[in-house]
Amino acid sequence: MKKIINRKNTAAVACAAMMICAAGAVPDSVLSVSMPVQAAEAAEQTSLPQVTGLTSKTPDISSIRLSWNAVSGADGYSIGMRSKGQYPEIADVTDTTYLVTGLPAATRENFKVRAYKIVNGQKVYGDYSVNYNSATNPRPISGLKAQTGNASVSLSWKKVGCSNYRVFMLENGKWKQIAQTDTNSYTVIGLDAGSYKFKVRACKRDDKGANHYGKYSQEITAQAVTVNKVTGLTSKTPNTSSIKLSWNAVSGADGYSVGMRSKGKYPEIADVKGTTYTVKGLPAATRENFKVRAYKIVDGVKIYSDYCENYNSATNPRKVTGVKASDITASTLDLNWKSVGCTSYKVFIYTNGKWKNIASSTVNSCAINGLYAKTTYRFKVRACKTDDKGSNHYGAYSEEITVKTPDHTVEVINGMSYVDGVLLANKTYSLPASYDPKGLTKETSAAFKKMQTAAYKDGISLWVCSGYRSYYDQRYLYNMYCNRDGKAAADKYSARPGYSDHQTGMAIDVNNASDSFGGTREAKWLANNCAKYGFIIRYPKGKEAYTGYQYEPWHIRYVGTPLAQNITNSGLSLEEYFGITSQYKD
Ligand SMILES: [Zn+2]
Repeated sequence: MKKIINRKNTAAVACAAMMICAAGAVPDSVLSVSMPVQAAEAAEQTSLPQVTGLTSKTPDISSIRLSWNAVSGADGYSIGMRSKGQYPEIADVTDTTYLVTGLPAATRENFKVRAYKIVNGQKVYGDYSVNYNSATNPRPISGLKAQTGNASVSLSWKKVGCSNYRVFMLENGKWKQIAQTDTNSYTVIGLDAGSYKFKVRACKRDDKGANHYGKYSQEITAQAVTVNKVTGLTSKTPNTSSIKLSWNAVSGADGYSVGMRSKGKYPEIADVKGTTYTVKGLPAATRENFKVRAYKIVDGVKIYSDYCENYNSATNPRKVTGVKASDITASTLDLNWKSVGCTSYKVFIYTNGKWKNIASSTVNSCAINGLYAKTTYRFKVRACKTDDKGSNHYGAYSEEITVKTPDHTVEVINGMSYVDGVLLANKTYSLPASYDPKGLTKETSAAFKKMQTAAYKDGISLWVCSGYRSYYDQRYLYNMYCNRDGKAAADKYSARPGYSDHQTGMAIDVNNASDSFGGTREAKWLANNCAKYGFIIRYPKGKEAYTGYQYEPWHIRYVGTPLAQNITNSGLSLEEYFGITSQYKD
């Protein structure tokens, strides 16, 4: 500094003045120098171009070697490294390269270089180069470990400062990068069973996107095994609290882990060597979900297969108790029992030497109809739990109960006779003249329409030829027949007033009330199907002794479906079925 001030050079003085100012001690003599014109001239004479071609190499974890293009006429170069937004000088060199040392590993740094020329002993600087960024290498990776997996190897290593890690695997004698990961672990998947070599290195990415790599870790050799998925998981439910699982053996497996679903997960409930396991202590009639996976033991560690598909089953419901029959009539009764946890109840009846399931109920009761009078029946009930895949699991059967149906009884209400609720009109049981339903009953009409529709689909036309007939209409007809054929003959085919089935409003002559109807397609269809809709052929062939009338294939009577089917299946006439007569008193 002193040397510079002693020279009487205006540019140097100007420069010195600035430096003195900066130092805070300013002699008056210096400040009085008037210099702008001379300073500008000096700058022009000494101006140097900007440094170009600034680049670098990173040889290790703590150095960056910078280099740049030589500037013609330069006496030296000043290197600045960014710190708090400034580029304080870190070196002053005459060469066009400089090794920055002592940096932390995996750190990004920014540099600028400017050339200078010494003019009158004073450094006159050119412009800074553009900012240049680089980074030191990350530290080498240590502590690389490998864990054998199912068709996989899990690698882990110690963390170092870096942008990411690169994983390499030896393939066909060559190292190949197989992954880039931000964390210090990586699982290589899709491996066949066998031995593999791996190594890892860290990478630091600088601001311009160039990568700087740390040294490779030591190579590690790791094994992958394959453990196949369990197949054929199935079960049996032996009782109300257990489910016995079984599955196909997996080749080479050392054991199996059984998981049972809980809150969406499958925590292990058993670790077994064999291919069966009985889950015990479950509640009755409960659905459970299971998964099983196989494992092999490698170096003391269990290597698991993937889980098999979810498998659902259920425990059996408890035994049904307290079965009772109530409201027992000649043809119907109600069964009820104590509730147990289940999906449904199955009701069984003993018939033809076998137990037969006759009803399924979701509630603890069931109405049974279509029974015969004076007949002994046996019933039993069991509960059923349906699992999520639709399989049924049954509880034990209840104790059997035995019920005897009573005989049919004829009840007379307001002059009308009923047997098991069926209104009677034959030669024994008459209707009062005042009984007038004014047409076919609602049930009868509806049932006939349903039957008509079904017949039509089979290509059969059915219609009502004669339905309801009042007491007075019947009186007119009967008197006419008597006058024509005599009383004895008329009584064989026509009813006396008050004794006609037609007065019930539940009898219909179909299509054509004459012998020519017999044997037609319509007559056959009617005989084969009318019971399904609640009708019976009221005066069957060969039953005149019971019904009091000759065969009338066209005359049907509505009695409701269960009874119609029972009467038809029995091959009996209505009179025989109920054990009643049809005879005029005189
Ligand atoms: Zn008729």
